[in-house]
Amino acid sequence: MKFQTRAIHSGSDPDKTTGATIPAISLSTTYTQGIPGEHKGYEYSRSQNPTRENLEACLAALEEGEACAAFGSGLAATMTLLSTLRPGDGIVAGHDLYGGTYRQMERHFRPWGLEIVYTDDASEAAYARAIAKLARPKLMWLETPTNPLLDVVDIAAAAAHGHKANMIVVVDNTFASPALQQPLKLGADMVVHSTTKYIGGHSDVVGGAVIAKTKALLEPVRFLQNAIGAVPGPMDTYLTQRGAKTLGLRMERHCQNAMAMAEELKKLPGISRIIYPGLPDHPGHAIAKRQMCGFGGMVSIVIEGDFERTKKVCSRMKLFSVAESLGGVESLCCHPTSMTHGSIPREIREARGITDSLLRLSVGVEHVEDLIADVRQAITG
Ligand SMILES: *Cc1c(COP(=O)(O)O)cnc(C)c1O
Repeated sequence: MKFQTRAIHSGSDPDKTTGATIPAISLSTTYTQGIPGEHKGYEYSRSQNPTRENLEACLAALEEGEACAAFGSGLAATMTLLSTLRPGDGIVAGHDLYGGTYRQMERHFRPWGLEIVYTDDASEAAYARAIAKLARPKLMWLETPTNPLLDVVDIAAAAAHGHKANMIVVVDNTFASPALQQPLKLGADMVVHSTTKYIGGHSDVVGGAVIAKTKALLEPVRFLQNAIGAVPGPMDTYLTQRGAKTLGLRMERHCQNAMAMAEELKKLPGISRIIYPGLPDHPGHAIAKRQMCGFGGMVSIVIEGDFERTKKVCSRMKLFSVAESLGGVESLCCHPTSMTHGSIPREIREARGITDSLLRLSVGVEHVEDLIADVRQAITG
């Protein structure tokens, strides 16, 4: 079945006892056993929950993986996955990581004993160089497009370097979503999501997931999902799956609107750089065209001028909410250095191009003319 069909039907079988077309939300924390030790596959809701299993079946189908484990947030998914490593194991991570992932690696996992090396840039050669620096390479972590600079990494090429060193290759697919990019088909072993973003899609539920190519690969994560217990509640998993049903539809419009926005921004004064993988002058355009089936809904811009002018542009936005997060139906504008990326030290941020003049737009699915008019008045205001 095609993506849109899987999004609506996977993990959404009618209820066996009542026939309810939409399966009931299973709130029970515990399950009654006929004879002690004899149960129907459910004992306690941290370990197994039917509503969570429905979401897991849906997300596994969307990424074309064999198995999925859902979590209470994207960072809980990351925490659990990285906890399958042992002190002394080595990670290669991309140069432009989500701030919270970077903080978890640096402030929790490095002191805990993992060796972490970051790539110098998004090129496949940078991934090969970084692997060579590790004593015991175990896991490769990449994001593409990256946050907030929207660099594009060639997943197949980076994964090939990782596999040569026997590493597990993980892609944080939050920005593209499985509607635009399916890393498991490009050679990755696992995919991580913050479902809080495009998959949930309505800015009303926090969640995360790990999807693996094979059931066996997910096994250590599945064990820790229960043993650590960072699981999502049934109301949250229900809402996330409800959002996932329209992911394909929404992504089409996000892509159209972001492309139109990027084209329009080129005509405006006061912007020194427009970053969108769909623009032919984007350095990763050719790779994005090959490995994605749409360029996404995120557009970053560099404002001509300092922090003060950039703040003014933000405060003049009316339709775009100045807020963290992304991927919802409503448009958002984020100032990474004072918001999402504040936990990355200034020198490191600036060396990577994340300056005080950078703004990241999550282009929503409102009418594009209203969105363009809003950004135009905020910039020329
Ligand atoms: C938001 C985000 C995360 C973290 O997910 P939470 O649901 O906020 O814990 C991880 N990676 C990327 C790319 C994100 O945008």
